[in-house]
Amino acid sequence: MFTSILIANRGEIAVRIIRAARELGIRTIAVYSEADRLAPHVLAADEAYLIGPAPSAESYLRGDRIVDVALRAGADAIHPGYGFLAERAPFIRQVRDAGLVFVGPSAEAVEAMGDKTAARRRMIAAGVPVVPGTSDPLADAAEARQAAEEIGYPVLLKAAAGGGGKGMRIVQSSAEIESAFGSAGREAKSAFGDDAVYVEKYLAGPRHLEIQILADRAGTTVHLGERECSIQRRHQKLVEEAPSAVLTADERFAMGATAVAAGRAVQYEGAGTVEFLYQHGAFYFLEMNTRIQVEHPVTELVTGIDLVQWQIRIAAGEALNFAQTDVSFRGHAIECRITSEDPANSFLPSAGRIEWLEIPSGAGVRWDGGIARGYEIGLHYDPMLAKVIVHAPSRELAIDRMRRALTELRVVGVETSAPFHLRVMEEADFRAGKLDILYLDRHGDELTDFEPSDEELRVVALATVLLEEERRARRSITRIDHGDALGSGWSGRGGWTGR
Ligand code: ADP
Repeated sequence: MFTSILIANRGEIAVRIIRAARELGIRTIAVYSEADRLAPHVLAADEAYLIGPAPSAESYLRGDRIVDVALRAGADAIHPGYGFLAERAPFIRQVRDAGLVFVGPSAEAVEAMGDKTAARRRMIAAGVPVVPGTSDPLADAAEARQAAEEIGYPVLLKAAAGGGGKGMRIVQSSAEIESAFGSAGREAKSAFGDDAVYVEKYLAGPRHLEIQILADRAGTTVHLGERECSIQRRHQKLVEEAPSAVLTADERFAMGATAVAAGRAVQYEGAGTVEFLYQHGAFYFLEMNTRIQVEHPVTELVTGIDLVQWQIRIAAGEALNFAQTDVSFRGHAIECRITSEDPANSFLPSAGRIEWLEIPSGAGVRWDGGIARGYEIGLHYDPMLAKVIVHAPSRELAIDRMRRALTELRVVGVETSAPFHLRVMEEADFRAGKLDILYLDRHGDELTDFEPSDEELRVVALATVLLEEERRARRSITRIDHGDALGSGWSGRGGWTGR
């Protein structure tokens, strides 16, 4: 096993990886930008190193600096988390060329799945069903029109290098195709530096289901069942659960076997996710994410398997110590992504200092967070602050548990998406399992048009009073000490570039 590991990420996923590594007895090394000096992941790690200014292009995306820190700090391995450098093949090569272990698949597997058109070709060759469409980038708008006519409207233009729902355009008729082709290409170019676009049949209201796989170096590949991620906004997931309310055991078996075949086709190693659209009992390959995903905890809760620990163990050369037949599912898990966005105001990003924070706990509740009281939420990074995850014997009980957990969560100082999630948990179609990717289009208004509840107003009022008392107390302490209320213990801890 490794002695030390560098975590090339921030926020809740960096904290999650630090926890997994610590349980394995591994020393943890964090990196951070100037905006993150006092971030929870920095405080949680054994050591931390400053890698640059706030913008991620100058810090969390600086692979060269991160590899340099890893070498100086004596790290054996680098875990990329998700986002940032997780799916950048040149970074993986850089890590391996420096003699370090990358916790994840090979650069070749990432490249094979990173270009969606190439991935489609490979999956078709492996016998995996894909959404009808083209498997080569479109040369121009005329070619897009011709392909769309063959497939039949509505179609979806998609960026070959896509991710995060960027560079995607629904096209209802041939009159719209020219401008949609231009704008999808431009958005893809600015987001990914690559304007290649292809076209798929736009399915009307499918569900988004995905299969988690784990593969060790010897080629043993298992699947850990599905996650349902149909509650989305602008093709971005908001709520995830396992198992899906609709999948039968036979369908799970077929989809799982397909995901394993997809992983084997690229000699996949580590934890990965094969995403599908599911409609009327049929499923179609969408893409493979060659990294740990935000929603991995729901799978951990229903299978009892720690995915992040397994990522590390596989990277260290361990073989899986269980087979497909050993994987079983228990109960139901739901995750809500808590973002610093204001659901009552079109999910506008919200910034500010977290003045007050109460974290839900109690039976069956898990909080994977990257925030703390006093922490400043800026606009430099992804707005996801934390995830509330619950586990209960049944879907109904899990929904009730999530409602309870969300009412315990109190954040003052920044708007969050929590009130939206609370309303989803109370909405009749969600409770009945009637979901698809258009759920928010149907229910968005009732879920986002609200005034703060009396309870929420009481929390803000109470927090304001308590904060004022605390400030008064702090002022009198400062007068006595004539100095820094934090003390000097911080300056000596870790970091060759200082903190
Ligand atoms: P990204 O990599 O940008 O996240 P994906 O291919 O994973 O893009 O798709 C993200 C979401 O977009 C899906 O969960 C689904 O909601 C929607 N989507 C993608 N392809 C289709 C399609 N062919 N028909 C309908 N919806 C689609």
